[in-house]
Amino acid sequence: MKFTASLYIVPTPIGNLSDITLRALEVLKAVEVILAEDTRTSRTLLQHYHIEKPLESFHAFNEHKKINFLIERLRQGVRMALISDAGTPGISDPGYLIIRAALQENIPIDCLPGPTAFVPALIKSGLPTDRFVFEGFLPHKKGRLSRIKELANEKRTLIFYESPHRLIKTLEQLAEHFGHERMASVSRELTKHFEETRNGTLHELLAHFRKTGAKGELVLVVAGKD
Ligand code: SAM
Repeated sequence: MKFTASLYIVPTPIGNLSDITLRALEVLKAVEVILAEDTRTSRTLLQHYHIEKPLESFHAFNEHKKINFLIERLRQGVRMALISDAGTPGISDPGYLIIRAALQENIPIDCLPGPTAFVPALIKSGLPTDRFVFEGFLPHKKGRLSRIKELANEKRTLIFYESPHRLIKTLEQLAEHFGHERMASVSRELTKHFEETRNGTLHELLAHFRKTGAKGELVLVVAGKD
């Protein structure tokens, strides 16, 4: 395999360790340094694949500080891979800042295709996939309601990342502003042992999760306005 880039963006599994591509493994074995969001989490994955490489922490709280230093090393020819705790770096995870800086400096980058949670959640929702909007996490406090109101008339399928302890509140607020009969879907623990997708109206999903509670990692997909 030819390695033409300096910075590789490498998606990693979102639960099932087998969900890593052959090329991702080749790249992780070939680079000199792996930038990881949480070095402990990533070490487990790398050990599983017998990959021994220097890991450097690169996360939301140090990325601003580290960019210039990393760009300098990339310019000197150090080949690096960026991984996050799960899925594709840059998707609700660090990545954007170093990618933008590398592009500004004409440092060749490559992004491997691979796992990300929102694609299987969208597909399993049964909602239209021809046009969709990825909203990531809703703001927790400031700007939350105005964002929800702004999205109420969106015609494309909407995708949200959500934490389990905020799911009920989000479903309540969406039901209030989008209407209780709007179709939606919650995919939990994708690729893991307790994987579950539940499709129904916001009202039905609320009734279900009020009864069972919500556990694990989840993606909420909501139909666009008719
Ligand atoms: N970079 C990741 C990606 O490409 O999907 C997303 C990282 S973001 C910090 C974590 C969120 O992704 C979780 O709160 C959840 O909404 C979603 N997520 C990650 N893994 C998941 C899984 N196995 N099942 C359902 N949702 C998941």
